[in-house]
Amino acid sequence: MIPFNKPYLVGTENLYIGEALASRKLSGDGSFTKRAQALIEAQLGSGKSLLTTSCTDALEAAALLCDLKPGDEVIVPSYTFVSTANAFALRGATIRFADSGADNPNIDPASVASLVNERTRAIVPVHYAGVACDMDALQAIADGVGATIVEDAAQAIASFYKGKPLGTLGTFSAFSFHETKNIVCGEGGALHVNDPARALDAEIVREKGTNRSAFFRGEVDKYNWVGLGSSYLPSELVAAFLTAQLEAVDAIQARRIAVWDRYAERLAHLAQRNDISLPVIPDYATNNAHMFYLVCDVLETRTRLIEHLKASGVMAVFHYQALHASPYFAANNATQPLAQATRYTDCLVRLPLYADMDMDDADRVADAVCAFFG
Ligand SMILES: *Cc1c(COP(=O)(O)O)cnc(C)c1O
Repeated sequence: MIPFNKPYLVGTENLYIGEALASRKLSGDGSFTKRAQALIEAQLGSGKSLLTTSCTDALEAAALLCDLKPGDEVIVPSYTFVSTANAFALRGATIRFADSGADNPNIDPASVASLVNERTRAIVPVHYAGVACDMDALQAIADGVGATIVEDAAQAIASFYKGKPLGTLGTFSAFSFHETKNIVCGEGGALHVNDPARALDAEIVREKGTNRSAFFRGEVDKYNWVGLGSSYLPSELVAAFLTAQLEAVDAIQARRIAVWDRYAERLAHLAQRNDISLPVIPDYATNNAHMFYLVCDVLETRTRLIEHLKASGVMAVFHYQALHASPYFAANNATQPLAQATRYTDCLVRLPLYADMDMDDADRVADAVCAFFG
Protein backbone atom coordinates (compact mmCIF):
# COMPACT_ATOMS: atom_id res chain seq x y z
CA MET A 1 0.00 0.00 0.00
CA ILE A 2 1.36 3.44 -0.88
CA PRO A 3 0.67 5.45 2.28
CA PHE A 4 -0.94 8.88 2.14
CA ASN A 5 1.87 10.42 4.19
CA LYS A 6 5.24 9.35 5.53
CA PRO A 7 7.16 11.85 7.66
CA TYR A 8 10.54 12.45 6.07
CA LEU A 9 13.70 12.25 8.19
CA VAL A 10 16.68 14.31 7.04
CA GLY A 11 19.23 12.27 9.04
CA THR A 12 20.57 14.80 11.55
CA GLU A 13 17.59 14.69 13.94
CA ASN A 14 19.19 12.10 16.24
CA LEU A 15 22.51 13.94 16.33
CA TYR A 16 20.84 17.17 17.44
CA ILE A 17 18.58 15.44 19.96
CA GLY A 18 21.73 13.83 21.37
CA GLU A 19 23.32 17.27 21.70
CA ALA A 20 20.23 18.55 23.49
CA LEU A 21 20.37 15.59 25.91
CA ALA A 22 24.08 16.11 26.53
CA SER A 23 23.49 19.79 27.31
CA ARG A 24 21.15 18.78 30.19
CA LYS A 25 18.90 21.66 29.17
CA LEU A 26 15.62 20.03 28.21
CA SER A 27 12.84 22.57 28.80
CA GLY A 28 11.99 25.26 26.26
CA ASP A 29 13.71 28.41 25.04
CA GLY A 30 17.25 26.99 25.07
CA SER A 31 19.83 27.00 22.31
CA PHE A 32 17.93 24.72 19.87
CA THR A 33 14.77 26.78 20.28
CA LYS A 34 16.82 29.86 19.37
CA ARG A 35 18.44 28.07 16.43
CA ALA A 36 15.10 26.89 15.05
CA GLN A 37 13.58 30.36 15.49
CA ALA A 38 16.55 31.95 13.73
CA LEU A 39 16.13 29.53 10.80
CA ILE A 40 12.44 30.42 10.48
CA GLU A 41 13.26 34.13 10.73
CA ALA A 42 15.92 33.74 8.02
CA GLN A 43 13.43 31.89 5.83
CA LEU A 44 10.81 34.61 6.27
CA GLY A 45 13.25 37.52 6.10
CA SER A 46 11.46 39.70 8.66
CA GLY A 47 9.52 39.47 11.91
CA LYS A 48 10.00 37.51 15.13
CA SER A 49 9.36 33.77 15.40
CA LEU A 50 8.43 31.96 18.59
CA LEU A 51 8.29 28.17 18.61
CA THR A 52 5.09 26.72 20.00
CA THR A 53 3.89 23.21 20.79
CA SER A 54 1.57 23.23 17.75
CA CYS A 55 0.01 25.50 15.16
CA THR A 56 -3.19 25.19 17.18
CA ASP A 57 -1.34 26.76 20.11
CA ALA A 58 0.14 29.46 17.88
CA LEU A 59 -3.40 30.31 16.73
CA GLU A 60 -4.62 30.35 20.34
CA ALA A 61 -1.74 32.66 21.26
CA ALA A 62 -2.61 34.92 18.31
CA ALA A 63 -6.25 34.95 19.43
CA LEU A 64 -5.14 36.05 22.92
CA LEU A 65 -3.01 38.78 21.33
CA CYS A 66 -6.07 40.07 19.43
CA ASP A 67 -7.54 40.95 22.84
CA LEU A 68 -11.09 40.04 21.85
CA LYS A 69 -14.12 41.37 23.74
CA PRO A 70 -17.60 39.84 23.92
CA GLY A 71 -19.45 40.59 20.70
CA ASP A 72 -16.28 40.79 18.63
CA GLU A 73 -16.44 38.89 15.36
CA VAL A 74 -13.74 36.88 13.62
CA ILE A 75 -14.04 35.83 9.98
CA VAL A 76 -12.55 32.45 9.06
CA PRO A 77 -13.05 30.16 6.06
CA SER A 78 -15.51 27.31 6.62
CA TYR A 79 -13.29 24.93 4.67
CA THR A 80 -10.39 24.66 7.13
CA PHE A 81 -9.06 22.69 10.06
CA VAL A 82 -11.04 23.07 13.29
CA SER A 83 -8.24 24.99 15.07
CA THR A 84 -8.58 28.02 12.76
CA ALA A 85 -12.02 28.70 14.22
CA ASN A 86 -11.69 27.01 17.63
CA ALA A 87 -8.75 29.20 18.70
CA PHE A 88 -10.93 32.32 18.42
CA ALA A 89 -14.12 30.65 19.70
CA LEU A 90 -12.17 29.81 22.89
CA ARG A 91 -11.78 33.55 23.46
CA GLY A 92 -15.53 34.07 23.16
CA ALA A 93 -15.47 35.60 19.69
CA THR A 94 -18.42 35.20 17.37
CA ILE A 95 -17.20 33.13 14.43
CA ARG A 96 -18.39 34.18 10.95
CA PHE A 97 -17.71 31.62 8.25
CA ALA A 98 -16.72 32.76 4.78
CA ASP A 99 -16.94 30.65 1.64
CA SER A 100 -14.03 29.41 -0.48
CA GLY A 101 -13.37 30.53 -4.03
CA ALA A 102 -14.33 28.47 -7.08
CA ASP A 103 -10.71 28.12 -8.29
CA ASN A 104 -9.25 26.77 -5.05
CA PRO A 105 -10.35 26.34 -1.42
CA ASN A 106 -8.84 29.65 -0.23
CA ILE A 107 -11.15 32.17 1.41
CA ASP A 108 -13.11 34.23 -1.13
CA PRO A 109 -12.60 37.98 -0.54
CA ALA A 110 -16.13 38.67 -1.87
CA SER A 111 -17.54 36.39 0.82
CA VAL A 112 -15.41 38.16 3.47
CA ALA A 113 -16.64 41.54 2.22
CA SER A 114 -20.24 40.38 2.71
CA LEU A 115 -19.56 39.47 6.37
CA VAL A 116 -17.34 42.33 7.50
CA ASN A 117 -18.79 45.03 9.79
CA GLU A 118 -17.75 47.34 12.64
CA ARG A 119 -17.59 44.36 15.06
CA THR A 120 -15.07 42.47 12.88
CA ARG A 121 -11.83 42.30 14.90
CA ALA A 122 -9.88 39.70 12.93
CA ILE A 123 -9.80 37.95 9.57
CA VAL A 124 -7.98 34.61 9.39
CA PRO A 125 -6.98 33.54 5.88
CA VAL A 126 -5.76 29.94 5.52
CA HIS A 127 -3.26 29.41 2.70
CA TYR A 128 -4.72 26.09 1.63
CA ALA A 129 -2.18 23.62 0.24
CA GLY A 130 0.44 26.34 0.74
CA VAL A 131 -1.07 28.52 -2.01
CA ALA A 132 -1.45 32.17 -1.03
CA CYS A 133 -4.84 33.76 -0.44
CA ASP A 134 -5.63 37.04 -2.22
CA MET A 135 -3.90 39.06 0.49
CA ASP A 136 -4.19 42.57 -1.02
CA ALA A 137 -7.95 42.17 -1.32
CA LEU A 138 -8.21 40.84 2.24
CA GLN A 139 -5.94 43.58 3.63
CA ALA A 140 -8.09 46.26 1.99
CA ILE A 141 -11.22 44.77 3.60
CA ALA A 142 -9.48 44.49 7.00
CA ASP A 143 -8.18 48.08 6.79
CA GLY A 144 -11.71 49.32 6.12
CA VAL A 145 -12.81 48.27 9.63
CA GLY A 146 -9.46 48.21 11.47
CA ALA A 147 -9.41 44.40 11.73
CA THR A 148 -6.25 42.38 12.37
CA ILE A 149 -5.13 39.75 9.88
CA VAL A 150 -3.91 36.49 11.39
CA GLU A 151 -2.55 34.10 8.76
CA ASP A 152 -3.15 30.43 9.32
CA ALA A 153 0.10 29.51 7.58
CA ALA A 154 0.05 25.91 8.88
CA GLN A 155 0.67 24.56 5.37
CA ALA A 156 2.50 27.57 3.98
CA ILE A 157 6.22 27.27 4.75
CA ALA A 158 8.48 28.23 1.81
CA SER A 159 5.66 29.73 -0.24
CA PHE A 160 5.09 33.29 -1.44
CA TYR A 161 2.54 35.97 -2.30
CA LYS A 162 3.83 38.48 -4.85
CA GLY A 163 7.35 37.49 -3.83
CA LYS A 164 6.70 37.98 -0.09
CA PRO A 165 6.94 34.91 2.17
CA LEU A 166 3.63 33.63 3.50
CA GLY A 167 3.53 34.20 7.22
CA THR A 168 4.88 37.76 6.89
CA LEU A 169 1.66 39.36 5.63
CA GLY A 170 -0.60 39.36 8.69
CA THR A 171 0.06 40.99 12.07
CA PHE A 172 0.49 37.43 13.35
CA SER A 173 0.82 34.10 11.60
CA ALA A 174 0.83 30.48 12.70
CA PHE A 175 2.90 27.63 11.22
CA SER A 176 2.59 23.90 11.83
CA PHE A 177 5.32 21.28 12.06
CA HIS A 178 2.92 18.40 12.63
CA GLU A 179 4.10 15.19 10.99
CA THR A 180 1.79 15.72 8.02
CA LYS A 181 3.35 19.07 7.03
CA ASN A 182 6.40 19.79 4.83
CA ILE A 183 8.74 20.44 7.79
CA VAL A 184 7.99 18.30 10.82
CA CYS A 185 8.92 17.63 14.45
CA GLY A 186 6.08 15.32 15.47
CA GLU A 187 3.91 18.01 17.04
CA GLY A 188 5.07 21.61 16.86
CA GLY A 189 4.42 25.04 15.48
CA ALA A 190 5.52 28.65 15.44
CA LEU A 191 3.87 31.97 16.11
CA HIS A 192 5.36 34.60 13.81
CA VAL A 193 4.95 38.23 14.83
CA ASN A 194 5.24 40.83 12.08
CA ASP A 195 4.43 43.91 14.17
CA PRO A 196 7.60 44.64 16.21
CA ALA A 197 5.44 46.48 18.77
CA ARG A 198 3.70 43.16 19.63
CA ALA A 199 6.77 40.91 19.95
CA LEU A 200 7.12 41.31 23.74
CA ASP A 201 3.39 40.71 24.23
CA ALA A 202 3.72 37.51 22.21
CA GLU A 203 6.57 36.28 24.42
CA ILE A 204 4.43 36.94 27.49
CA VAL A 205 1.47 35.01 26.07
CA ARG A 206 3.77 32.06 25.27
CA GLU A 207 5.37 32.11 28.75
CA LYS A 208 2.18 31.57 30.80
CA GLY A 209 1.44 35.28 31.03
CA THR A 210 4.82 36.13 32.54
CA ASN A 211 7.74 38.29 31.46
CA ARG A 212 10.10 35.35 32.03
CA SER A 213 11.78 35.77 28.61
CA ALA A 214 12.66 39.39 29.37
CA PHE A 215 13.93 38.30 32.81
CA PHE A 216 16.32 35.77 31.27
CA ARG A 217 17.62 38.46 28.93
CA GLY A 218 18.31 40.59 32.01
CA GLU A 219 15.79 43.25 31.00
CA VAL A 220 13.82 43.02 34.27
CA ASP A 221 15.10 41.98 37.71
CA LYS A 222 12.29 39.51 38.52
CA TYR A 223 9.53 37.93 36.53
CA ASN A 224 5.88 38.38 37.20
CA TRP A 225 2.38 37.59 36.05
CA VAL A 226 1.84 40.47 33.64
CA GLY A 227 -1.01 39.28 31.38
CA LEU A 228 -2.97 36.30 30.10
CA GLY A 229 -1.05 33.43 28.56
CA SER A 230 -0.49 29.74 28.60
CA SER A 231 2.24 27.13 28.27
CA TYR A 232 3.04 27.11 24.57
CA LEU A 233 6.80 26.36 24.65
CA PRO A 234 8.08 23.13 23.11
CA SER A 235 10.96 21.31 24.80
CA GLU A 236 14.53 21.49 23.53
CA LEU A 237 14.19 17.89 22.27
CA VAL A 238 11.45 18.95 19.89
CA ALA A 239 13.38 22.09 18.91
CA ALA A 240 16.48 19.97 18.17
CA PHE A 241 14.48 17.75 15.82
CA LEU A 242 12.96 20.81 14.16
CA THR A 243 16.37 22.49 13.73
CA ALA A 244 17.57 19.48 11.71
CA GLN A 245 14.49 19.68 9.48
CA LEU A 246 14.61 23.44 8.97
CA GLU A 247 18.25 23.22 7.88
CA ALA A 248 17.14 20.84 5.12
CA VAL A 249 14.16 22.87 3.90
CA ASP A 250 15.49 23.38 0.36
CA ALA A 251 16.18 19.68 -0.20
CA ILE A 252 12.78 18.72 1.23
CA GLN A 253 11.02 21.24 -0.99
CA ALA A 254 12.84 20.09 -4.13
CA ARG A 255 11.75 16.48 -3.51
CA ARG A 256 8.12 17.38 -2.82
CA ILE A 257 7.91 19.67 -5.84
CA ALA A 258 9.27 16.92 -8.12
CA VAL A 259 6.45 14.57 -7.05
CA TRP A 260 3.84 17.32 -7.33
CA ASP A 261 5.01 18.22 -10.85
CA ARG A 262 4.85 14.57 -11.90
CA TYR A 263 1.23 14.30 -10.76
CA ALA A 264 0.34 17.56 -12.50
CA GLU A 265 1.87 16.36 -15.76
CA ARG A 266 0.33 12.88 -15.59
CA LEU A 267 -3.20 14.10 -14.72
CA ALA A 268 -3.46 17.25 -16.87
CA HIS A 269 -5.47 15.47 -19.58
CA LEU A 270 -8.14 14.46 -17.07
CA ALA A 271 -8.66 18.12 -16.22
CA GLN A 272 -8.76 19.02 -19.92
CA ARG A 273 -11.51 16.41 -20.37
CA ASN A 274 -13.33 17.86 -17.32
CA ASP A 275 -13.25 14.54 -15.47
CA ILE A 276 -11.67 16.40 -12.56
CA SER A 277 -10.48 19.88 -11.74
CA LEU A 278 -6.90 20.47 -10.70
CA PRO A 279 -5.60 23.14 -8.31
CA VAL A 280 -5.49 26.64 -9.73
CA ILE A 281 -2.42 28.53 -8.55
CA PRO A 282 -3.03 32.25 -9.11
CA ASP A 283 -0.29 34.42 -10.68
CA TYR A 284 0.39 36.08 -7.32
CA ALA A 285 1.05 32.73 -5.59
CA THR A 286 3.67 29.98 -5.59
CA ASN A 287 3.34 26.27 -5.02
CA ASN A 288 5.20 24.71 -2.05
CA ALA A 289 3.92 21.23 -2.88
CA HIS A 290 2.34 20.81 0.50
CA MET A 291 -0.48 18.85 -1.06
CA PHE A 292 -1.66 17.45 -4.36
CA TYR A 293 -5.42 17.37 -4.59
CA LEU A 294 -8.01 17.04 -7.28
CA VAL A 295 -11.70 17.88 -7.20
CA CYS A 296 -14.29 15.41 -8.51
CA ASP A 297 -17.63 16.40 -10.03
CA VAL A 298 -19.79 14.93 -7.23
CA LEU A 299 -19.45 13.12 -3.89
CA GLU A 300 -20.39 9.77 -5.42
CA THR A 301 -17.49 9.93 -7.90
CA ARG A 302 -15.10 10.79 -5.09
CA THR A 303 -16.26 7.87 -2.95
CA ARG A 304 -15.78 5.47 -5.86
CA LEU A 305 -12.38 6.98 -6.74
CA ILE A 306 -11.07 6.58 -3.16
CA GLU A 307 -12.34 2.96 -3.14
CA HIS A 308 -10.74 2.26 -6.52
CA LEU A 309 -7.42 3.71 -5.37
CA LYS A 310 -7.51 1.66 -2.16
CA ALA A 311 -8.14 -1.51 -4.19
CA SER A 312 -5.12 -0.50 -6.32
CA GLY A 313 -2.89 -0.15 -3.24
CA VAL A 314 -3.07 3.64 -2.98
CA MET A 315 -4.16 5.46 0.15
CA ALA A 316 -5.93 8.65 -0.96
CA VAL A 317 -8.04 10.68 1.44
CA PHE A 318 -10.63 13.44 1.51
CA HIS A 319 -10.10 16.50 3.68
CA TYR A 320 -12.10 18.95 5.82
CA GLN A 321 -15.76 18.81 6.71
CA ALA A 322 -16.95 22.40 6.30
CA LEU A 323 -17.12 23.97 9.75
CA HIS A 324 -20.28 26.05 9.17
CA ALA A 325 -22.19 22.73 9.03
CA SER A 326 -20.26 21.07 11.87
CA PRO A 327 -22.18 19.57 14.81
CA TYR A 328 -20.70 22.06 17.29
CA PHE A 329 -21.35 25.18 15.23
CA ALA A 330 -24.64 24.27 13.58
CA ALA A 331 -26.19 23.29 16.93
CA ASN A 332 -25.73 26.82 18.27
CA ASN A 333 -25.86 29.08 15.24
CA ALA A 334 -28.01 29.81 12.24
CA THR A 335 -25.92 28.89 9.22
CA GLN A 336 -26.00 30.10 5.64
CA PRO A 337 -25.28 27.61 2.89
CA LEU A 338 -21.72 27.98 1.55
CA ALA A 339 -21.63 26.38 -1.88
CA GLN A 340 -17.88 26.13 -2.46
CA ALA A 341 -17.03 24.96 1.07
CA THR A 342 -19.62 22.21 0.62
CA ARG A 343 -18.24 21.33 -2.81
CA TYR A 344 -14.69 20.86 -1.46
CA THR A 345 -16.06 18.92 1.53
CA ASP A 346 -17.76 16.48 -0.84
CA CYS A 347 -15.49 16.37 -3.87
CA LEU A 348 -11.83 17.04 -2.93
CA VAL A 349 -9.33 14.12 -2.83
CA ARG A 350 -5.70 14.29 -1.72
CA LEU A 351 -3.12 11.98 -3.28
CA PRO A 352 -0.11 10.52 -1.42
CA LEU A 353 2.79 12.98 -1.27
CA TYR A 354 5.92 12.85 0.87
CA ALA A 355 9.49 13.97 0.36
CA ASP A 356 11.03 10.52 -0.12
CA MET A 357 8.29 9.26 -2.40
CA ASP A 358 9.66 7.20 -5.20
CA MET A 359 8.80 8.43 -8.71
CA ASP A 360 7.65 4.89 -9.57
CA ASP A 361 5.16 5.11 -6.72
CA ALA A 362 3.98 8.51 -7.96
CA ASP A 363 3.46 6.92 -11.37
CA ARG A 364 1.54 4.02 -9.80
CA VAL A 365 -0.77 6.55 -8.13
CA ALA A 366 -1.23 8.47 -11.38
CA ASP A 367 -1.84 5.21 -13.29
CA ALA A 368 -4.54 4.23 -10.81
CA VAL A 369 -6.27 7.63 -11.11
CA CYS A 370 -6.11 7.44 -14.92
CA ALA A 371 -7.45 3.86 -14.91
CA PHE A 372 -10.44 4.97 -12.85
CA PHE A 373 -11.45 7.66 -15.34
CA GLY A 374 -10.66 5.38 -18.32
C1 LIG B 1 -2.34 21.31 10.36
C2 LIG B 1 -3.19 22.51 10.43
C3 LIG B 1 -3.49 23.14 11.64
C4 LIG B 1 -3.13 22.55 12.98
O1 LIG B 1 -1.78 22.34 13.14
P1 LIG B 1 -1.26 21.61 14.49
O2 LIG B 1 0.21 21.90 14.46
O3 LIG B 1 -1.57 20.15 14.30
O4 LIG B 1 -1.96 22.19 15.63
C5 LIG B 1 -4.22 24.31 11.63
N1 LIG B 1 -4.63 24.85 10.48
C6 LIG B 1 -4.39 24.26 9.29
C7 LIG B 1 -4.88 24.93 8.04
C8 LIG B 1 -3.67 23.07 9.22
O5 LIG B 1 -3.43 22.50 8.04
